[in-house]
Amino acid sequence: MSTSATTLRETEIRPDHLMGEQAARFDADIARILARRSEFVRVPCPACGSEQSRPAFQKHALDYVFCTGCETMFINPRPTPAVLEMYYSSSENYAYWNKHIFPASEAVRREKIFRPRAQRVAEICQRYNVPTRTLLEVGAGFGTFCEELRALKIFDRLLAVEPTPSLAETCRQRGLEVIEKPIEHADLSGLNADVVASFEVMEHLFSPADYVRQCARLLAPGGLFIATCPNIRGFDMVTLGSVSTAVDPEHLNYFHPASLSQLVESCGLTVLEVQTPGKLDAELVRKKVLAGEFDLTSQPFLKQILLDEWDRAGTAFQEFLAANRLSSHMWLVAQKAG
Ligand SMILES: [Zn+2]
Repeated sequence: MSTSATTLRETEIRPDHLMGEQAARFDADIARILARRSEFVRVPCPACGSEQSRPAFQKHALDYVFCTGCETMFINPRPTPAVLEMYYSSSENYAYWNKHIFPASEAVRREKIFRPRAQRVAEICQRYNVPTRTLLEVGAGFGTFCEELRALKIFDRLLAVEPTPSLAETCRQRGLEVIEKPIEHADLSGLNADVVASFEVMEHLFSPADYVRQCARLLAPGGLFIATCPNIRGFDMVTLGSVSTAVDPEHLNYFHPASLSQLVESCGLTVLEVQTPGKLDAELVRKKVLAGEFDLTSQPFLKQILLDEWDRAGTAFQEFLAANRLSSHMWLVAQKAG
């Protein structure tokens, strides 16, 4: 299959022939987490702290609610930090990803996701004129982002926080400086990072506010906090609702640009920008329609774009979503006071 550097197809990063087995592993993981349902706890809104919510839907036997204060969606009640630690340390799904899906798709991921991600971080540092001594990445995975950033020769020091042993080992093999602990247990006092970055982490956390405060403490004055996560007000999430693949039991928190900004500002940082440079929304919805999991009969205009006129208009439609903060893939940049 030919690919171009400017487009991204979902099957390139989630190869179809591997996803059936992955789904079985994921089901086993979900069963393990649901077996500890009696330990789940109720929480206030992870963005604004409101106790008021209304039901959104159920999926995988979990309750998703909308905060009536800020319209963030979140799983409530939710697994405790102890249950989450069990989940991630024993996850068959993650083991399968690590063994099969990431290796099979890393070349494409590197070119289409991690290289642009590193370039974007470099542009952000330049835009806000921050020093580039130390960058800390929380949740470094295979270390691909750090490798790509290292190749740009911008930062003096890159630190990868990765608590999963097999992933931390991969990072070390790639010559990266690794902290093999959860960020909350790592002794990083006096680090004074110029940038703390985490990609697709916030949505997984029991307490995103605790996490942002922790990241803020690790920043030097004037340093940047950069985070990506799903945007509940983006095209694929608004259109598909509970059918969206982004709605899964690991994703406890579903922010939007305003609610994520509110959260981050409540932790003492100043939000500089929120953008949604996503590339996959339209294709994700299209695939659900083609798979018979979502029906566009009552939405003829979307049917035109996503099916009838796809070859002609699909790319332009996705670019429109990305440019107008309407994609479900969100980037936030915030700054610590100088
Ligand atoms: Zn709220």
